[in-house]
Amino acid sequence: MSNNLVVYNTLTRTKENFEPVNAPFVGMYVCGPTVYSDVHLGNCRTFVSFDLIYRYLSHKGYKVRYVRNITDAGHLEGDRDEGDDKFSKKARLEQLEPMEIVQRYTIGFHDVMKLFNTLSPSIEPTATGHIAEQIEMVKDIIANGFAYEKNGSVYFDVEKYSKDHNYTVLTNRNIEDLLANTRELGGQDEKHGRLDFALWIKAKPEHIMRWPSPWGWGFPGWHIECSAMSNKYLGEIFDIHGGGMDLAATHHTNEIAQSQACNHTQPAKYWMHTNMLTVNGTRMSKSAGNGFLPHELFTGNHPLLSQGFSPMTVRFFMLQAHYRSTLDFSNEALEASDKGFKRLMNACGLLDKLKASANSSIDVASIRQACYDAMDDDFNSPVTIAHLFEAARIINSVYDGKASATEADIDALKTLMSDFVYDILGLKEEQAQTDNITRLMEFIIELRSEAKENKDYATSDKIRNGLQALGIQLKDGKEGTTWSKA
Ligand code: AMP
Ligand code: ZN
Repeated sequence: MSNNLVVYNTLTRTKENFEPVNAPFVGMYVCGPTVYSDVHLGNCRTFVSFDLIYRYLSHKGYKVRYVRNITDAGHLEGDRDEGDDKFSKKARLEQLEPMEIVQRYTIGFHDVMKLFNTLSPSIEPTATGHIAEQIEMVKDIIANGFAYEKNGSVYFDVEKYSKDHNYTVLTNRNIEDLLANTRELGGQDEKHGRLDFALWIKAKPEHIMRWPSPWGWGFPGWHIECSAMSNKYLGEIFDIHGGGMDLAATHHTNEIAQSQACNHTQPAKYWMHTNMLTVNGTRMSKSAGNGFLPHELFTGNHPLLSQGFSPMTVRFFMLQAHYRSTLDFSNEALEASDKGFKRLMNACGLLDKLKASANSSIDVASIRQACYDAMDDDFNSPVTIAHLFEAARIINSVYDGKASATEADIDALKTLMSDFVYDILGLKEEQAQTDNITRLMEFIIELRSEAKENKDYATSDKIRNGLQALGIQLKDGKEGTTWSKA
């Protein structure tokens, strides 16, 4: 395992050599979705970025335990413990159980992640499945003197913590500025200090998702779930903690404070943050109302789009920007990515058709090295893609007879594309797959027609019913038999 990898650490604001706590094992925790509505493309960008990171670390030989949680309780509308619980509100609106909301959007999220060809995490823990662990952690924080109970809720005491810890270590913000930007406490407030945040929240009578605790019936605050679950599955100190950049200022800042207050240590060595997907320069978000849903993109059913774009085109579009740069979403940018993706895939399709020569006029090893150098430089996928385009140009030249490649060169090109295009960037051929299914169906329909001609109705019915069980409908017409998915 070559160890030239450098990663940008938000904590130190520098690129650092990647040295896992316990190589070759790597523990990576990524904050997952809050499953109360469909994920938008911005959320997908963050998860595709960490998929790239997971794939590359695994390719380099690290044994990665990738934990990505599902937030299915405790996330209030406001980041500062105000507003309704997101699940209860949606459940009331749709007249469903909160857990029905959770189930529906968890399944939707997994379906979208599959379409984008992201690998499943090693563990996908839920907040509701770890209430006991969260309560234990809150108890420890109280015992260590960094939290207090008030009327059945528990709050983290930021002022006390700040006396001998740097609360804003992750973002380096000035605590006085933070205070100036936070509203004054009113007479109704249970918090001692303006920056205090909830670890446990007393359930109002109408609140359905509630659990018993030493402080009465309630539910956990949003930040404590990630501290408790990362600790449980990756230990007190693990390697990478990730999420979107918008999480650094509050959610991750509070996670660090909780872990320090409980375990006396900073939880993760490297904090990695992905930049935002924007639309005309504005961050894509549910609240801004500019959130594109993945299916709108795939079908092209949106006023800003001229056509539908396939999941792999969209994945390629995302990977053409570095994960720490903003990425602006537009029809033109997607059209360009569509062309680029097809160019790369066409070259991959020519690999089996190349003819070997005795002499070589190409240098695959240097392209391979350049791809590794780019990925080792904080997972620089756009530069990697630029080198892969150079490989595509070479493949085309060899195919056209304008360059010569030996048998070994052709093997090296195949391995290069297989490693970087498929395994690391996680792209796959879509058209070929569709074509294969079409050809396969044509073959099955032909077999059934033959059976019918031979009056072998048992077989022809078996084929029809078997396909039906798989969700495929056959329709006999004057022009022959057609098929469709139910
Ligand atoms: P949420 O479901 O709101 O908790 O968000 C899930 C993940 O998506 C978090 O890591 C967010 O930081 C990330 N995220 C939200 N909006 C965007 C965006 N416009 N671009 C990239 N990532 C985002
Ligand atoms: Zn989190």
